[in-house]
Amino acid sequence: MTAAPSALVLFSGGQDSTVCLAWALQQYEHVETVGFQYGQRHEVELAQRGIIRDEIAKLGDWGARLGPDTMIALPELGRLSETALTRDREIAFEVNGLPNTFVPGRNLLFLTYAAALAYRRGIHTLVGGMCETDYSGYPDCRQATMTAMEEALSRGLDYPLAIETPLMFVDKAGTWAMAETLGGAALTDIVIAHSHTCYLGDRTHQHSWGYGCGTCPACQLRAKGFLQWRGIDAL
Ligand code: ZN
Repeated sequence: MTAAPSALVLFSGGQDSTVCLAWALQQYEHVETVGFQYGQRHEVELAQRGIIRDEIAKLGDWGARLGPDTMIALPELGRLSETALTRDREIAFEVNGLPNTFVPGRNLLFLTYAAALAYRRGIHTLVGGMCETDYSGYPDCRQATMTAMEEALSRGLDYPLAIETPLMFVDKAGTWAMAETLGGAALTDIVIAHSHTCYLGDRTHQHSWGYGCGTCPACQLRAKGFLQWRGIDAL
């Protein structure tokens, strides 16, 4: 199988985008990463990005395929969004059913900036960890939104652009399984040790599934998926 030419991965340092990076490294000859600094309440994920890139580059021929990383600062997004991710508020579900961690339009902005970077870099594929099966149901993570964005960006840039979302219909247990298929225990160990999803930025408490507070919605989702993947009853 011949690998496709190149892709740009939206890479946060979280579990999902780490698996997406591995997926892209298997599919594409040249893979670059982009990350966004938007005033997150904690910057643990961002600190983990470089570590994960270094560790993943040691697997197979992925180091030869892994290209540069670009960080884009979007501080206005944090200022515009009065949400639990960027302010010191309790994580809770709002009356509209969305968790208050939802930053309105966040993924739309990320994709637009990533598309501008891809255009400059001559890359025609964006890869992101958007997922419909997430508990959160963020509307900017849905397949219908991705399809619309793909068309809007391709038309708006007059530049063919595909958005690949390998986790769109995969649950968290499936994400762990995908990591194992892509890179074996070496990759799942990197996900456990270095990827970060805890909303509270906790990297002091270690669990079988990685670091985190263990009680926030992101930790609970990650733990449940891990235990399901390992065949352990999560309940
Ligand atoms: Zn947590």
